Amino acid sequence: MNYMGPDTIITMRQEYLFPATAHFYKEPPQIIGGSMQYLFDHNNKKYVDFFAGVSVMNCGHSNPEILKDTIEQLNNIQHTTTLYLTQPMVELAQRLAEVFPGDIKRTFFCVTGSEANEGAMALARLYTKKNGFIALTGGLHGRTHLTLSVTGIPMWRLDDHLVKENIFFIERPYSVGSSYEEAIEKSLQQLDTVLKNHGKNICAMLVEPIQGNGGIIMYPENYLKKVKALLEAHNVLLIADEVQTGYGRTGKMFCIEHYGVVPDIIVTAKALGNGIPISTFSTTDEIAKAYNRPSASTFGGNPVAAQTALSVLNYIEKHNLVEKSDELGKYLKHKLEQISSPLIQEIRGCGLMLGMQIQSANPSITSAEITDMILEEMKDRGFIIGKNGLNRDVVAFQPPLVISKEDIDVMVASMEAVLEKISFLC
Ligand code: PMP
Repeated sequence: MNYMGPDTIITMRQEYLFPATAHFYKEPPQIIGGSMQYLFDHNNKKYVDFFAGVSVMNCGHSNPEILKDTIEQLNNIQHTTTLYLTQPMVELAQRLAEVFPGDIKRTFFCVTGSEANEGAMALARLYTKKNGFIALTGGLHGRTHLTLSVTGIPMWRLDDHLVKENIFFIERPYSVGSSYEEAIEKSLQQLDTVLKNHGKNICAMLVEPIQGNGGIIMYPENYLKKVKALLEAHNVLLIADEVQTGYGRTGKMFCIEHYGVVPDIIVTAKALGNGIPISTFSTTDEIAKAYNRPSASTFGGNPVAAQTALSVLNYIEKHNLVEKSDELGKYLKHKLEQISSPLIQEIRGCGLMLGMQIQSANPSITSAEITDMILEEMKDRGFIIGKNGLNRDVVAFQPPLVISKEDIDVMVASMEAVLEKISFLC
């Protein structure tokens, strides 16, 4: 194949995609191949992928064990309509009922995370017969009209009059530098006030169990338990948006399990298909009964996606990826914590969803600029690392769960060298 190369792709993106279309790096590589935890560019340069398509490729790129099942299904039948009877969809639904927390048993299949969050919100409205939503600042729930409206990241949030009066934001219980106790107290107090004043009109609260794009923010112990109790007192459902955290990413099958809380509705996407688009919103027998709207999506749960997802679940189980994520996550976190650099303010997160908060002591350079420099340098040394956070100054580590200890060792050694080099410049 003749590769057009990064410069042409950037020019064509600027010409034909929406002007807001973003990409990482000043000099981004053209990615042409992937194999498990590795990516390859048009010059055949190899990278260890520490961002994994933002938690999509939990089982690794072009995983042959999974692809074998996908290709077999593609050869049998690709798709007709989800109204006909096909086997992979029901097998997957049954399998999901086994792994979801609590009594969550019934699944509605969709294609993207945004769509599944939309479906979850529609379900909450139908079940409670109320309209409003609560969300946390710093949260991200998608790109559709309503999911943009409940997104708590100012630069992405859609703040329009159609939905404004029905959406209430609560401050996430986190703030660098101030006491956690204070932040929890403030957040719970705000929630209590909103519920007392508007609870009669609120159907659900959306929560990412760890905020991904918001900067890898995990909640203090008991926070979500207290949130759930407050919501229950006002007949408000809890929707766990596990789009980024699901399927082993955080060292548990689902991140919400870390908090000992069972949500009313769980939303998943990304890693379920390991690159083949599939998403879900799932709930209990009782809540599912309320969903009396169009009962299937055109592509949601199609045979190829469903068969792939079944294969993903088998792979996660067979290769103990949940346990591996926990173990390697602790290993990576410990190694990152040992780096001594004035540029690091904090390491946070769990499993293989870790964030390194960058700080700048130099007024002429921002922490976001330093983060970009780190990413660029790491890319040149063969590591694709992510970034997120409200100020885009959190370096994110979310590798495929098939990553090895050796990959981690080499990456951390490079990171140490890069931080040292950059701190000289700053
Ligand atoms: N929720 C969360 C937590 C996400 O991270 C994302 C995507 N980054 C979405 C929802 C939206 O998913 P999608 O892009 O598949 O619509």
